[in-house]
Amino acid sequence: MKNISQIVELKIELRQFADLSVGFVPTMGALHQGHISLIERAKKENDIVVVSVFLNPTQFDNKNDLTNYPSSLKDDIVILEKLNVDYLFTPSYGEMYPDDFTYKIEETSFSKKLCGKSRKGHFSGMLTVVMKLLNIIKPVRAYFGEKDRQQLLLIRGMVDAFFMDIKIVASPTVRESNGLAMSSRNRRLSSDDKKNADLFPVLLKSKKSDSEIIDELNKSGFRTDYVETLDGIRYGAVFLSNIRLIDNVEI
Ligand code: AMP
Repeated sequence: MKNISQIVELKIELRQFADLSVGFVPTMGALHQGHISLIERAKKENDIVVVSVFLNPTQFDNKNDLTNYPSSLKDDIVILEKLNVDYLFTPSYGEMYPDDFTYKIEETSFSKKLCGKSRKGHFSGMLTVVMKLLNIIKPVRAYFGEKDRQQLLLIRGMVDAFFMDIKIVASPTVRESNGLAMSSRNRRLSSDDKKNADLFPVLLKSKKSDSEIIDELNKSGFRTDYVETLDGIRYGAVFLSNIRLIDNVEI
C-alpha cells in the first residue's frame, strides 16, 4: 500500500489506471468493522482501491467533538495493509482547503432536517470535502455506509445535481453484538454506557411512536436530540455521557 499525502502525487499515480476501475472509500479514521465492510466490498468490485483518512474539521460544529474524535492512524495502516488496499490518502487541512473553506457546497432542503437542525454547517462541510475527494480521485465507484443515511442521501443528491459520473454504493450498517451501530465514537463510551446503548437500536426498531421512544430514551439515561420518521426510515440521534450516537432503521 502506498500512503500519499499530496494531491498532485496521488493524481499522477492514479493516471496509470485510466483503463481500470478505481473504487474509493472515504473515512475519518479510527477504523472499525463498519469501515472494513465498505473496503472489502470495494476490493471485490474494483481493480484499484483508494481509502482516505482525513478528519475533516469543516464538518464539526463543536470544537470539543473534533478535539476528542478518536484517531489511530498507525493501527489504521495495519488494517488497510491487511486488506490489500492499494492507496491510502492522508492529506492535511492545507492540502484539502487551499481556499480555507471560502468555497462550499450547500444543500438547502434535506440537510436542514434531522442532524442538520442541531449540527449547523455539518452537512455543508461534509459535502464539500466529499466533492473535493471525488474530484481528486475520480473513482468509478465510491462507498458509503447506511449508518449515516442522511449523508448517503445528500451525497447521492449532490452527484446527481452536479452530473458527476460516479456510482455511489451504499453498504448496510455493521453492528456490535448488542445491536449498537459501530462507530469510531463508540471507543469513547465507558463499558457501562456501551452496554446500556443497546436500548437505542431496540427502541428505534420497536412499534412505539417516535414520541414514545423519545420519552423512554430520556427516562433511561439518554439525552435525545431527535427521533423522527421520514419516508419509511426512522432516524435517531442521542447523547450518552455527551457522546453523540446516530442510527436509522427501515420501518
Ligand atoms: P466515518 O469515518 O465515520 O466518516 O465513516 C466513513 C464511512 O464508513 C461512511 O460512509 C460511514 O457511513 C461508514 N460507516 C461508519 N460506520 C459504519 C457502520 N457501522 N456500518 C457501515 N458503514 C459504516
